[in-house]
Amino acid sequence: MRELSDIDVVGVVGAGTMGSGIAQVAATAGYEVVLRDVEEAYVESGVESVADSLDRLAAKGALDEAPGAVRDRIAGTTDLADLAGADVAVEAVVEDVDVKREVFADLDAVTDPDVVLATNTSTLSITTIANATDRASDVVGLHFMNPVPIMKGVEVVVGERTADAVVEFAHAFAEDLGKETWEADDKPGFVTNRILMPWVNEGIRAYDEGVAAKTDIDRGMKLGTNVPMGPLELADHIGLDVVLDASETLHDELGDRYKPAYLLKRKVEAGDLGKKSGRGFYEYD
Ligand code: NAD
Repeated sequence: MRELSDIDVVGVVGAGTMGSGIAQVAATAGYEVVLRDVEEAYVESGVESVADSLDRLAAKGALDEAPGAVRDRIAGTTDLADLAGADVAVEAVVEDVDVKREVFADLDAVTDPDVVLATNTSTLSITTIANATDRASDVVGLHFMNPVPIMKGVEVVVGERTADAVVEFAHAFAEDLGKETWEADDKPGFVTNRILMPWVNEGIRAYDEGVAAKTDIDRGMKLGTNVPMGPLELADHIGLDVVLDASETLHDELGDRYKPAYLLKRKVEAGDLGKKSGRGFYEYD
């Protein structure tokens, strides 16, 4: 297995909300990054969102380098073969087990055999994803939080066959990206989403059942329990499709108490995905 000191190039698969954030923190930490998505437009939009975020951080004096210098360490691509030179790979594609397994089988084929392969999955089994490769011991969960450049925490998720050295590497790599870590076993939703998803769904149900106006639900939870975002704001921030995928996995694995709210399903069907589509429970520019 490659040591942290051997890491120069970080491969990131998926240039959406999370993949672009992971690319940004890796480039900020000094790594060269290869960022892959399926279409050029998605790659460009991911790189643009990194550039915007770096500009905002620089304006606040929170960046040690010129934003352009950090941005230039990220090479976008639509060709997975460009990850052949990666020393570690982090997957952040859609929360769909079949898509992730396909990506891992491809990563297994393309990258050197001693490269650690990490998944940013919110709820899916690390072991199921790892079994799509011939090196399950090198596969680990690195669950970054949204927005990646701002949120301090990363959950390290240990699959059934993840090697101890790979777990140690995952902690060290996340810390090198300026993060603090905790560890969870490969159980549905790990620590964070097992607890968070029912809370978000209950907020949506409370709104759907007319318990309070959406703004009062969010204000009530913020002022009443000291969380930074209420459940409806948080759902929009995460992406309603991502919340639905995560909730469905938890429902399948853990039963009825994890059933996704009806209104969540209806909004996703309508294409109201939250901030990223311009409308979720609230409207965005
Ligand atoms: P997103 O929809 O913003 O981005 C997903 C990206 O993956 C899209 O750009 C899509 O084109 C791309 N993609 C799909 N198939 C691909 C493939 N085969 N190869 C390369 N790219 C591919 O989703 P997101 O919010 O960034 O979520 C990504 C992952 O991170 C999911 O597993 C999600 O559960 C997890 N996650 C999300 C959040 C959150 O708050 N959004 C937080 C933690 C973890």
